[in-house]
Amino acid sequence: MKVFHTSQSLVEHLSKETRPIGMVPTMGALHLGHLSLIERALSENQTVLVSIFINPTQFDNKADLENYPINIETDLKKIEQLPGKIFVYTPKVKDVYGNLVASKSIDLGGLDQVMEGKKRSGHFQGVATVVVHFLKVFTPNHAYFGEKDFQQLRIIEHITQSLKLNTEIIGCPIIRERDGLAMSSRNNFLSSDQRKLASKIFKGLKFAKSNAKKESYNTLKKMVMDFFEKYDELNLDYFTIAHPKTLKEVDLKEPVDLGRGFIAAYLGKIRLIDNLDMS
Ligand code: AMP
Repeated sequence: MKVFHTSQSLVEHLSKETRPIGMVPTMGALHLGHLSLIERALSENQTVLVSIFINPTQFDNKADLENYPINIETDLKKIEQLPGKIFVYTPKVKDVYGNLVASKSIDLGGLDQVMEGKKRSGHFQGVATVVVHFLKVFTPNHAYFGEKDFQQLRIIEHITQSLKLNTEIIGCPIIRERDGLAMSSRNNFLSSDQRKLASKIFKGLKFAKSNAKKESYNTLKKMVMDFFEKYDELNLDYFTIAHPKTLKEVDLKEPVDLGRGFIAAYLGKIRLIDNLDMS
């Protein structure tokens, strides 16, 4: 494992490496979900580049950015245990943005107008800005993203195609805790009662899936709302079933088994997201 703080030295070193190169962009606080992406990248590439960068432009909420967990030493220890050639890029904001810390205006094909994009203004422009920057500067052959952030994955697939970037985007399955809760750095902020309740998010998605073939979307929506109604401390932000490519919400009268179910929910101030294929 080699650690780089500037893109200049990283690009120099990368140019001497045998391809393919796989990239895994992260914001650190690594858990088994992130490590599964790195392992997949190691199995498909000669060299793997892991970035650890808390991207300021994707935070619509200042407190969220300020409280984002930072644990570089632990992250590096976790990465070091993986076998294979790994370059880690841990830049300062200036190395990525220069003096202008702002999102570029990138055409996201309307995929940012629903779900997380609707709730978190400017979030996906920030994500797109940093990912396009990384893909242009480091030109990896493959880049790995988790289905945990399914809308993000779709947006990145869209922009790499529309900007004709030479990186193949690879989506990887969601890694879950034993009780089904999708792994996330935010889970660490949950109290033990909230942590127990958090597993209901995935249970709600499975409940939706088990009824998706029988019920119209309209009925299913009500059933899922009722499912969450039972838990006072768990507040549903949205439950949507959308087409997995267009992310458009499916027709209310149709059965919904070909869509993907998406949930965002609050436990206190902590907002968690999850999704599940309904087929
Ligand atoms: P983040 O550090 O939250 O920006 O996440 C970095 C990458 O890890 C993104 O592509 C995420 O979708 C992915 N990721 C986060 N949590 C999980 C998980 N539980 N399973 C699989 N991938 C994940």
